[in-house]
Amino acid sequence: MIKKFLQQVFKGKKKPAPHTPHEAERFPRRAHGIDRKLISNAAMKTIQELHKAGFSAFIVGGAVRDLILHRTPKDFDIATNATPEQVHRLFRRSRIIGRRFRIVHVMFGAETIEVTTFRGSHLSEEGDAQIADSGRILRDNVFGNQEEDAARRDFTANALYYDPQTEEVWDFHHGLQDIKAGILRMIGDPETRYREDPVRMLRAVRLSAKLGLKLHSATEAPIPRMADLLEDVPPARLFDEMLKLFLSGHAIESAHALRNHGLHHGLLPMLDVVLEQPMGERFVTLALQNTDERVLADKPVSPAFLFATLLWHEVLATWQKYQAKGEKPLPALIQAMHDVSDVQAEKLAITKRFSLVMKEIWTLQPRFEQRAGQRPFRLLENPRFRAAYDFLLLRCQSGELPMELAEWWDRFAVADTATREAMLLPNTEPAKKRRRRKRKPAASPA
Ligand code: ATP
Ligand code: MG
Repeated sequence: MIKKFLQQVFKGKKKPAPHTPHEAERFPRRAHGIDRKLISNAAMKTIQELHKAGFSAFIVGGAVRDLILHRTPKDFDIATNATPEQVHRLFRRSRIIGRRFRIVHVMFGAETIEVTTFRGSHLSEEGDAQIADSGRILRDNVFGNQEEDAARRDFTANALYYDPQTEEVWDFHHGLQDIKAGILRMIGDPETRYREDPVRMLRAVRLSAKLGLKLHSATEAPIPRMADLLEDVPPARLFDEMLKLFLSGHAIESAHALRNHGLHHGLLPMLDVVLEQPMGERFVTLALQNTDERVLADKPVSPAFLFATLLWHEVLATWQKYQAKGEKPLPALIQAMHDVSDVQAEKLAITKRFSLVMKEIWTLQPRFEQRAGQRPFRLLENPRFRAAYDFLLLRCQSGELPMELAEWWDRFAVADTATREAMLLPNTEPAKKRRRRKRKPAASPA
């Protein structure tokens, strides 16, 4: 006790409650059940080369966890005691990347294997670690041994190391036992670990939804209370994490879990607004369902489309507000889009590449309501027609617009020219324009 107290007095803030490195338990194949044939060739070769050169090397993190859970890993990461330079020298097709913590990408055909040198604990006195007053780790580029590397990982299930040559799993924090019990548990003291890196709260929610693991009570308990810490996380990092969350194939569970843990307030204004109004919730649920189905069927999904849906009801409300002030529909929409995406840019740093497409999808929306003259033909030729139509379909399915509108476009898109001509509505342009000005931009649910 006294020793601990003195240590804290003398070492000051640099010493948050330590989670000491543990020694590994080693489990043979029959205990973990990983089938070596499921390891990618590229990962196998990388490990063999590192072993041949006298280094230790393991498959680590998500891949080991996923294999134990009988899931297909997204990618294979390797951890080793070789330095980045030593790894780079062993593989002709490799490059060192990253400035903060350098890792090596080893390329085999289309596959890239990420090789990371064991990281040390930021608690050690040497090295280059730095901790802010809040307890947040600012830099932790320190090499260490395997035990330390395990201790600085987030969840026990993520701190498992698989050696495909001996087929052993090295387990430093009872991760195997937790996985088998269906539990996701933070290594060390959860509060300290969330303070070090608030993104771990989002990871907890995302991984438990994706893997069907239950958050351990002590891991779960501090989250609502600590949710505000996410405000200090750099927007670009938040954006990456949100993408992972929504493109995991379990977006719906994740969105609901975020809300249940109080993580959507402030942090994600879009979820704030959307999940708290029935129409918006319906729309977003449909959009996320759609995304989940595509991800699980291995079809491509567009992040721009997804964010366009998540923000739509905010755009819609702002659009209506500007129109109520007497603004014409299109300029009102454009103003609304800019307002909404400016706010999001501050929080989430939606990259320009995505936000441009997002705005294109939105700006095309009013054009679906023009079904006379040449306009529908021009809309069909727009390169974003498909995405904008899918978006319209969600609006109709959620009850924001009559279903008849989406059905009309569905038929129009595949019809021959004569049928299309016959489908056009009478050209009542001037009269219609007058009517539209009085109407709200989007009809209320049918
Ligand atoms: P996914 O299947 O989504 O890739 P993952 O657990 O593999 O999940 P990655 O972001 O690929 O997630 O991270 C790889 C490993 O790095 C994790 O398994 C974990 O051990 C460690 N890690 C990642 N992010 C953190 C973090 N914020 N704090 C501590 N350890 C982390
Ligand atoms: Mg991973």
